[in-house]
Amino acid sequence: MFEHLIEGPALPTNSKRTWIHRVKTTVVEKFIVLSPKIMSTAVHYLARLKRTVECKQATGFCTHCHEMVEAKWKGYLHCVKVGTNEEVFLEMTADGCMKLGQLTADRQTLRGSWIEVSKTSGGARGRYKIDVKERTIEAQTLPEAREPWETLRRLWSMKLPIS
Ligand SMILES: [Zn+2]
Repeated sequence: MFEHLIEGPALPTNSKRTWIHRVKTTVVEKFIVLSPKIMSTAVHYLARLKRTVECKQATGFCTHCHEMVEAKWKGYLHCVKVGTNEEVFLEMTADGCMKLGQLTADRQTLRGSWIEVSKTSGGARGRYKIDVKERTIEAQTLPEAREPWETLRRLWSMKLPIS
């Protein structure tokens, strides 16, 4: 690597960090779901600040709802990406989660489900295409499921758009 070009502590390794992942193209991406359920939240996109923030309506008063800023529903699944074995928090819109829910309604848990996700076209216009495989992965052999909230709060506190 390039340790010889750094004076002081080595660069932090982010290998254990779990990132928010969005499927944005027509390329099919395969995931094994670790979460038992879809974890959902509502957010507001504040265009003037180019920031996404949490909607606080569910737990009290939300300034952005009060100012009539549209709230967007987001669903998250902790997954292992097939191929790279990377753990991600897969983020989907209500459209994607609705389709996933319809295909898995007869399951007691989503954990161990093998899902394939793509968009019908690239960019914002694309709708989700979801495929759920019959076979499931034995839950005991999978990494423990985690929640996305810590990762999301870190993103929400940065001045960067997440959608
Ligand atoms: Zn709100």
